[in-house]
Formats: sequence, structure tokens, C-alpha cells
Amino acid sequence: MVGAGPHGLAALKALLQNGIEADGFERESDVGGNWNFGADNSRVYESTHLISSKPFTQYPDFPMPDSYPDYPSHRQVKEYFRRYADHFGLRARIRFSSDVVDAVPVDDGRAWDVTARDRGTGVETTYRYAGLVVANGHNWSPKRPAYPGIEDFRGKVIHSADYKDADVLRGRRVLVVGAGNTGCDVAVEAAQNATHTWHSTRRGYYYNPKYLTGRPSDQVADGLLALRVPLAVRRVLFSASLRFAVGDLTSFGLKKPDHKFFETHPIVNQQLVYYVSHGDITPVDDVERFDADGAVFTDGSRADVDLVVLCTGYLVSVPFLQHEWLNWDDDHPQLFLQMFTPRFDNLVVTGLIQPDSGQWTLAHWQGVLAARVAEALRRHPSTARAFLSRAGAEAGRRYSAGAQYKDSTRHYYEVAHQDYLRALQDAIRELEAPA
Ligand SMILES: Cc1cc2nc3c(=O)[nH]c(=O)nc-3n(C[C@H](O)[C@H](O)[C@H](O)COP(=O)(O)OP(=O)(O)OC[C@H]3O[C@@H](n4cnc5c(N)ncnc54)[C@H](O)[C@@H]3O)c2cc1C
Repeated sequence: MVGAGPHGLAALKALLQNGIEADGFERESDVGGNWNFGADNSRVYESTHLISSKPFTQYPDFPMPDSYPDYPSHRQVKEYFRRYADHFGLRARIRFSSDVVDAVPVDDGRAWDVTARDRGTGVETTYRYAGLVVANGHNWSPKRPAYPGIEDFRGKVIHSADYKDADVLRGRRVLVVGAGNTGCDVAVEAAQNATHTWHSTRRGYYYNPKYLTGRPSDQVADGLLALRVPLAVRRVLFSASLRFAVGDLTSFGLKKPDHKFFETHPIVNQQLVYYVSHGDITPVDDVERFDADGAVFTDGSRADVDLVVLCTGYLVSVPFLQHEWLNWDDDHPQLFLQMFTPRFDNLVVTGLIQPDSGQWTLAHWQGVLAARVAEALRRHPSTARAFLSRAGAEAGRRYSAGAQYKDSTRHYYEVAHQDYLRALQDAIRELEAPA
């Protein structure tokens, strides 16, 4: 198992609980992955709190402490993962500071040779395993659009991957590019610290509040899903509640969304509209090009800025595996249930999802499914193979609860959590009841 972030921990625990011998490899000296603030590949920043609320994010078999707020801080989240690892005795099974640099199939694909480099000594060691679980995360390798003229720009350009706290924004004229949750967070921090902030987005979005009727908004949304309220009705209800709570976003100078509710990954940010309405954030169009002093936008307007923060997202990267083994289609793997490749029965990916809710309930069930497959391959190989034989045909299947996601790299791994959870649980049942 490669990676001891939320997904790797859940997979390792599930394998061990099912009596499957397993080792974990983690390049950092501690667990937590993205939530291990300050680690090379961690992409949370000083002010990060959960975007999804506590009950909809935590592992189903390990609740967060009652003392935690609805939206815990990254420090509380990391502590939660440390406790999880201790509670399930996972630390002793993980080789820390151990960077997996290569993995190759051997013995006609029946085993994997995994080479790890000790980050302290630089020594590389190769280990042989019957199967490989990849949980190296997909929120760490920065996506940097190639803007014309950026090399002429005299200011500073950073990617949100390197954004750690508001110090870098202080006293500067800042352009924030991108309206994912990170882009909106950084725009708000810039509004509080910079001289002025411009926020460039490709399209208009729905900026959801963290609370609706006094409850975390994801819990309200989930209540409607549990009642099986149809997509069209949920759209009307959510649009109406936003209109009621905030009003028409275009009256604040924000763009009108060019899509329906649930067609893009939800943005949860209560403060962005506030700072736009106070004149501290100027919404602007997509960047067309840069020049020495700033950016020119697609509507012809411009902003002279000192700092550009590219919140343009991350691309999946699995540098220790050949692309074809993960069935890559251009720039991302195409996997059955977003986990299984048609190429190998004993290669599983966990964490290649971006749910419209918290992630670690799904991490738990992905771990359980990975363990069930490993167990079935051992005990009921024909059941396992029948299940995995669908990997090619179902590799492109989306779990969107009927929504048509906007075609962008941002939505490669988007899943409607209830839809995807149902698919995972059906698969687990199928493997539990061998023919
Ligand atoms: C700012 C921000 C806010 C977020 N907010 C939320 C939220 O509110 N709710 C939510 O559910 N999710 C949120 N997420 C998504 C978050 O990425 C996931 O919650 C979760 O961290 C993904 O877990 P993972 O285990 O797949 O990957 P990661 O957390 O990235 O962990 C991967 C691990 O693999 C290790 N690794 C990588 N390569 C190697 C290698 N070659 N050898 C050994 N080890 C390796 C890394 O060091 C890391 O520890 C947020 C993400 C960001 C960036």
C-alpha cells in the first residue's frame, strides 16, 4: 500500500482486518497525507478547515471527537488521522520516510516488485508483493496553464500548491486565478490582507453557504438525497435557497453560472460574496495573457498586479507506474469503479475520487472493497475474476446521480457520493456471495 493519507490508512486497515498481510509505504515521517501540514506534498494552508462537515467526512467506524466543531481545522484533522492509525495499530505496519520510486509487475503479473528509497539514507530496497494498492493522492501535482506573456510579467507568480499562509499576500495587489474551493479561500484571505484583489474565473458558479437553516449545508443536501428527491427538484430547491439567502449573484458583479446546480464540484464559501459586495474583491474574466505589469482578461479589461496566485488545480500523477498499466486515456487513468484497471487483477487504486461531500466514508468503503477483492482472489478466484472482467467495459462509467458534469480536468474524478457509495456496496455484496 503506497501512501498513508486518509485513503491509504483505510485500505491498510481493511486489508489487515481481513487477515491479509500488508505493508504501507509513506514518503513522509507521519500519517495524514494532505492534512500533514508542512509536508512536501501537503496542499492545505494555515487557515484550512474542512469544507465538508464532520459527520459527512469522517470514517464510519471512527467518529471524530464530540469536542470537534462542525468544520474542524487541518490540525484537528491530522490529529484525527494519527489517532485512527494508533487505534487500529497501523503505524507498526508502515515504513515511514520511504518513497516508492518504482513498481513493476513480475512473474507474469502475479506479483509486484516495489522499490522504495529511504529519504534519510538514500538507500533503495526492492520488496515483492502479491498485490499493490496505490493511494498516493491526486491533489499534489500542480496544474499550471501556459498563459501567453507570463514570462514577461515582472511580479511574482505562485501556485496554490505553495500557498501556506496570508503573509505572501500582505500589502500586494493580488490576482487569484480559479474558483475551486482553494481559489475562493485564497481570494477571501487576499481580500483581508492584500491592497486589492482580483478574482479571475472561467465561468460563474454557485457559492454555497456553509450553513442552511442553522445546519451544515451538506447535511441539508444529504437529507434530500436520502429522501430520494429527484435531481430536478433538488436543483430548484437549492437555487431557490441560494436566491433567498444571498440574492441574484450578478447584482454583485459575479458572473451568472453557465450550468445547472450539481454540474460542477460544489463551492462552499460564505465569505467570497461578502468581500465582493464590499469592493475588496473585483471579479474578472478568464486570463487571456500577461504583460510586464499584470493581466489582460478575455473581455479586454486589465489589472496591474504584483502577485498572481494560480489556484488552477492538480493533475493526477503516479510516477512509479507505467501509464498503460492504469489504463490512462490521455491525461488520466480510466478505472472500473475508479479503482480497478483492466490490465491487472492485483493492482488497485484508492482515492481517485472527488465526491460532492466528505471523502473518508468513501475511503473506508473503497478499502473494504480492495480487501474483498484480495480475499476473493485467494478464496473464490472465479468470483473475483468475473467481477474484475468488467473493468474494461465499465472503465469510463460515471457516478453522477444523473448530472452531466462540466467537461474539465476538475471533474475527472467527480462522484455523487450516494451514487458511488451504492456502487461500492453493491460490489462488496457481489464479492461476499460467491456463486
Ligand atoms: C485545501 C484542501 C481542502 C480539502 N478539504 C476537504 C474536505 O473538506 N473534505 C474532504 O473530504 N476532502 C477534502 N480535501 C481533499 C483531500 O485531498 C482528501 O480529503 C484526502 O486527503 C485524500 O486522501 P488520499 O489518501 O487519497 O491522498 P493524500 O491525502 O494526498 O495522501 C497521499 C499520501 O501518499 C504519500 N505518497 C505519495 N506518493 C508516494 C510515494 N511514491 N511513496 C510513498 N508515499 C507516497 C503522500 O506523502 C501522502 O501522505 C481537501 C484538499 C485540499 C487540498
